[in-house]
Amino acid sequence: MINPRLEQAINNQINAEFYSAYLYLSMAAYFENANLPGFANWMRVQFEEEQFHGMRFLNYLAERGGRVKLEAIEKPRFEWKSVLEVFEETLEHEKHVTALINNIADIAEEEKDRATRNLLIWFIDEQVEEEGAAEKIINELKMIGGEGHGMLMLDREFAARTFVPPVI
Ligand code: MG
Repeated sequence: MINPRLEQAINNQINAEFYSAYLYLSMAAYFENANLPGFANWMRVQFEEEQFHGMRFLNYLAERGGRVKLEAIEKPRFEWKSVLEVFEETLEHEKHVTALINNIADIAEEEKDRATRNLLIWFIDEQVEEEGAAEKIINELKMIGGEGHGMLMLDREFAARTFVPPVI
């Protein structure tokens, strides 16, 4: 049986990951509407990744004998001022998710739950990648001023992104 504090924290995290999926799906729809199919594809891949994260926490909690309690998923926003603003929100959101995961890691340390600590190592590494990817795109968007030829190039690059389920 898993410690109740960790059970609660992981249930919250399941919700946070599925909210992330919903947020990125909303961003994908925004890009589709803005005639940026490559950017939309990039966000659809994010959507799939976040569902994978949510399922990984859910399966882990079930495996440890915890009770999975799904909560309502908050409504994501659907309008942004610019492509840059979308990625600035992505970065802020991922920093928030990193803080949540670090908090679960702190609880796992306090409760001396080594299995949960091990699970979180993968997520902690993943958050470095998530924040790094958003920062890179923000820098590129600032470089090209968010318009013209550069945007076309980025859109084509992002059209090639695919979701590959991580080997764990
Ligand atoms: Mg995630």
